[in-house]
Amino acid sequence: MDTQMLIGSTFEKGTETEEAILNPRTGETIISLPEASQAQIEAAVAAAERAFVTWSKTTPAQRSGYLLKIADRIEAEAEGFARLEALNCGKPINAVLNDEIPAIVDCYRFFAGAVRSMPGLVAGEYLPGHTSMIRRDPIGIVASIAPWNYPLMMMAWKLAPAVAGGNTVVFKPSEQTPLTALKLARILADVLPEGVVNVVLGRGESVGNTLINHAKVNMISITGDVATGKKVLQAAAKSVKRTHLELGGKAPVIVFDDADIDAVVSGLRAFGYYNAGQDCTAACRIYAGKKVYDKLVADLSSAVSTIRFGQADDTENEIGPLISRRQRDRVASFVERASELKHIEITTGGKPGEGGGFYYQPTVVAGALQEDEIVRREVFGPVVSVTRFSDVDEAVNWANDSDYGLASSVWTKDISRGMSTAARLQYGCTWINTHFMLTNEMPHGGLKQSGYGKDMSVYALEDYTAVRHVMIAHG
Ligand code: NAD
Repeated sequence: MDTQMLIGSTFEKGTETEEAILNPRTGETIISLPEASQAQIEAAVAAAERAFVTWSKTTPAQRSGYLLKIADRIEAEAEGFARLEALNCGKPINAVLNDEIPAIVDCYRFFAGAVRSMPGLVAGEYLPGHTSMIRRDPIGIVASIAPWNYPLMMMAWKLAPAVAGGNTVVFKPSEQTPLTALKLARILADVLPEGVVNVVLGRGESVGNTLINHAKVNMISITGDVATGKKVLQAAAKSVKRTHLELGGKAPVIVFDDADIDAVVSGLRAFGYYNAGQDCTAACRIYAGKKVYDKLVADLSSAVSTIRFGQADDTENEIGPLISRRQRDRVASFVERASELKHIEITTGGKPGEGGGFYYQPTVVAGALQEDEIVRREVFGPVVSVTRFSDVDEAVNWANDSDYGLASSVWTKDISRGMSTAARLQYGCTWINTHFMLTNEMPHGGLKQSGYGKDMSVYALEDYTAVRHVMIAHG
């Protein structure tokens, strides 16, 4: 297991407070890793600053070549990465190996291609006797800070467009899930020139806080909680740094009476509970039409009660535990408070799983009302609420009545209704008759307090580069 941070071309251990890295399946400590000192953070930023001088002058084709090599190396070590991610996050091994790793590899490959054909306005004489052209140039040093729910994938979403765009990076994984980042650091050190990517460990309040306030950091990219995003904005305001924020979500799912209920149920069973619901696009806030509500609650509850977890043979597991005891207790407290309300019925689940791990039963909370906490706040666990609506305006108003604006879906056999409803939703993404599906060609990112950074797609490349205008007078 790789345990050392990458600073420039050297691997070294942190020297400060140790963090216990836990196995969420058992609650046992895998290893304890010390966080970076202020001097080590300084050294990482200095290495990124030195590297920027030459890296920012490389051609798109050169950077593309490096990204393709990183993709190949991850692919070649897919099993090792998957085992480590499964160990550190409690994810079922098959989910990491078959869903996450291919998408991660494809992310590096996508940006390797995209950077070689960036779009823009055509050069021309927009003033007589003057030729104008658009450039897209690197921003500088990016501090990238990742959450714990998809550690290696969030690293890919942040590193690939940043590095493709000609920036250098100081990356900090979540203090709870640093293991795959440390493994990838070995590959990055092999493939990339010294200092292009540096990996430092530590908690948000210490190492993260130093990075976001660092005078030499030009851009902060963070995926995390809304409260953390607000701290980033405050820090960025001091020196007007560029920010790329991917914050939480509470995805509404509007199920019209004419929807294919079997498809809805199998979709919700998969997309409401994937990664134990620790996903900001999880299909967790269902609005069901009057006629379909009872059948949906009954069928969904029975389908969800069959989700397999906690099996000794991990290849049988569909979901894993929550990331930590704290997260499990948080999820449990949301469900407890909801179950105290008279109008609410927990139709399946509703309890922590047995054993030492941080499991929580896949849960359906039926009869939820728009003002209920379970409908409004992000639970980030295997818990889906169902609310009955009476007409399309009510469904759309309730769906939009949220601080979040990341993802949403509409289920109907009437494509006109699907399209017109999608047009009214204030979300970064709306799926029709599916949910959760991502592709590297399309952007992922939110509105409102879900933040405004776009991951994946050419829009991420735009976020990680600066638009510049160069004009030549002909004399
Ligand atoms: P978090 O905000 O606590 O931590 C995210 C990262 O920020 C961690 O690396 C943490 O160390 C760091 N951090 C925390 N405080 C900091 C500070 N003051 N300064 C600098 N860095 C700081 O979130 P989490 O608990 O790790 O992740 C779960 C959250 O992330 C959920 O709320 C979820 O909705 C959100 N999330 C959003 C997306 C998205 O794409 N929008 C994706 C995944 C997760």
